[in-house]
Amino acid sequence: MLKSIELNGFKSFAKKNELFFNTPVTAIVGPNGSGKSNVVESIRFVLGEQSMKSLRGKSSSDLIFKGSKVLSSPNRAKVSIVFDNKDKKFSFSEDLNISLDFNEIVIAREVFKDGGSTYTINGSEVRLKDINDLLSSVNIGSSGHHIISQGEADRLLSASIKERREMIEDALGLKSYQYKLKESERRLEKSIENLKEVNIQRREIAPHLKFLKKQVEKSLEAKSVREELTSLYAQYLALESHYIKNTKQDLTNQISVLKGELSVVESSLSSYKNNVSEDEAEVELEKNVSEINNKIAEIRTRVDELIKEEAKISAFIEIEKSNLDKYSKTEKSEITIYTTKIKSFVDSSKEILQKINKSSDTNEIQSLVKELLGKIEREVEVYYKGENILEKDQVLFDIKEKIANLSKDISTYAERKSKFLKDIEDLESKKSALYSGFQSMQSSNLEKEKEYSDKKLKKQELESKITLIEREISSVEERETSFEEEVKEGSILIGSSILDYKNKKNEEEIDKEHLTALKKDLERLKIKLESLGGASGEDMEKEYQETLTRDQYLEKESEDIENSKSQIEDIIKETKEIIEEKFQEGVNDINKTFQEYFETMFGGGRAFLEVVTEKRRRRSEEDELEQEDVPLEKGIDIHVNLPQKKVKELMMLSGGERSLTSIALLFAISSVNPPPFIVLDETDAALDEANSRRYGDMLEKLSKHSQLIVVTHNRETMSRAQVLYGVTLGSDGGSRLLTVQFEEAVKVAK
Ligand code: ATP
Repeated sequence: MLKSIELNGFKSFAKKNELFFNTPVTAIVGPNGSGKSNVVESIRFVLGEQSMKSLRGKSSSDLIFKGSKVLSSPNRAKVSIVFDNKDKKFSFSEDLNISLDFNEIVIAREVFKDGGSTYTINGSEVRLKDINDLLSSVNIGSSGHHIISQGEADRLLSASIKERREMIEDALGLKSYQYKLKESERRLEKSIENLKEVNIQRREIAPHLKFLKKQVEKSLEAKSVREELTSLYAQYLALESHYIKNTKQDLTNQISVLKGELSVVESSLSSYKNNVSEDEAEVELEKNVSEINNKIAEIRTRVDELIKEEAKISAFIEIEKSNLDKYSKTEKSEITIYTTKIKSFVDSSKEILQKINKSSDTNEIQSLVKELLGKIEREVEVYYKGENILEKDQVLFDIKEKIANLSKDISTYAERKSKFLKDIEDLESKKSALYSGFQSMQSSNLEKEKEYSDKKLKKQELESKITLIEREISSVEERETSFEEEVKEGSILIGSSILDYKNKKNEEEIDKEHLTALKKDLERLKIKLESLGGASGEDMEKEYQETLTRDQYLEKESEDIENSKSQIEDIIKETKEIIEEKFQEGVNDINKTFQEYFETMFGGGRAFLEVVTEKRRRRSEEDELEQEDVPLEKGIDIHVNLPQKKVKELMMLSGGERSLTSIALLFAISSVNPPPFIVLDETDAALDEANSRRYGDMLEKLSKHSQLIVVTHNRETMSRAQVLYGVTLGSDGGSRLLTVQFEEAVKVAK
């Protein structure tokens, strides 16, 4: 695997020197101070050793040949190491854009006097990290456990349990896992930081996003309200305009009809002024009635006169009848006497009758009639005493004639009286006709008055109707103004769509309640729209979308980081488990071989490694007295039990025992996970002859797995090497390398 190494200007190697490692065991021999350890250091150096102490120098200039009397000091020191890569085992864990597809891998490191240092892999300059990465792929750890410098054989024994663990991990090839673990932990830390950063950013934009979301929701709601409002406006305005137009037309028609009716009523009212007054008719009536009454009174007087005449004649008739009766019964002489007396009686009766005729006083007439009747009665008495004597037949005849004439008179009077009475009757009926005429005129006037007042009422009614309709018209006109204002207001709220109502055909009958309900809805929507901020928020929406996208991006980022974080955590957990498992397995494997080698070295006894957890006692910051146990990482304890000895503490081992234990452990570790090569610088220095043989046996075993480069003064060790390099200090003051034969080597070594 390891093919060769070339030193140029490194430490005592002033000139270019090359060593080839073609055999399992190569020994480097030479006298003290010739530069053997410098070769070992050159290997450490080229593989990336950073500790100046382990290179036995203070500064990088100590690594460059200092110069001699003959040779000057160069500006730089360079070491190149060549590995075989036919089986292409070398690899990088990350893509470096450096091809490793070669049969050889040449790693070179140069150091300059000014302190600068460069690394190359097959001529390409790389970082130290890349060298470590490349070497770990072939199990060459950076801890240098496979290069045991002079006096460092017991390094494992004297190291702390944690250092031991690191060395063993490195030897077990767990360093790559450790790198992976560290890298994962670094990535985890970065993820946590990024996550924090992303979350901070999200938290920062959250209130703004919330605000924008609310605004956009508002604007979307406003949009939908506006759409609703637009449709409602079209519906309402169409109906309202239809309503206004119809109502106005209807009211105008109504008013013109009413006005027509009013003018008819008014003109008919004016005709009532020409009617005859009732008072005049009454005066006329009274005049006519009085005339009739006068006439009737006149006729009545004449009737009364006739009645008196009739009574007088009736009295005469009665007298004549009684005379007739008396004369019929009396003698003739008596009649003569009687005639004389009768003559005076008639004369005095005539006087009384004349007085009756003249009198108009009824009482006087009655007393005169009484006086006449008295006279008649006294005459009758005289007659009976026989004082009256008349010629009987003549007298009787005369009397009868007188009675007939008087009866004739009476019937004449009766005729005349009935005629007068008829006249009175006619006049009475004329009078009552006049009254009834007046009454009927009165009642006809009443009717007309009623008609008049009815018409007046009608007029008032019409006027108030007209006023009412005029009021309605002005209210419709007000509504028309409101309508226009509504359109203006609406155009601000919904733009030109406000005119959509004009395209809406409206044949349906207008339901006023429906219209009121629409108007109410309209107002409600307007208020809602105003409360939502009215205007559309396109800019706001754009900003919201941008912020949302940003937030979603951050959310996605956060999720991605969260995912990768949990993946990393899984990897870390997994890696830790692998390390733990491999470490424990490795330690178990090492223990087996360690025990074997230990027994070989000491002819018995017992030795083993133990994985322990170190707990460090730490002082608390607050209270110096209070202490607490802090669990630390696991480490490795070494237990030894020498045969026939009770010694168990490493500290109590002799130098040789210590050396043998170290070698046994070192070889055990190396055999479990063999590195490509192992460099042993005088590890065998403290061994006696018997132990040197055992050491030699172990070298041979070990060389089956790893190439061995041993720096030695030990003859036994030299005998196990196939190639021997002798190092000598030349006359020019620089070290020189040359292959030597065994015998020569034994000589050189001394
Ligand atoms: P030993 O058998 O005693 O261990 P060694 O062969 O291992 O000896 P080294 O320790 O390799 O010897 O070499 C040490 C020698 O290298 C010293 O003499 C020292 O002066 C020389 N040396 C170290 N650094 C330089 C340098 N920068 N320039 C010149 N010579 C140096």
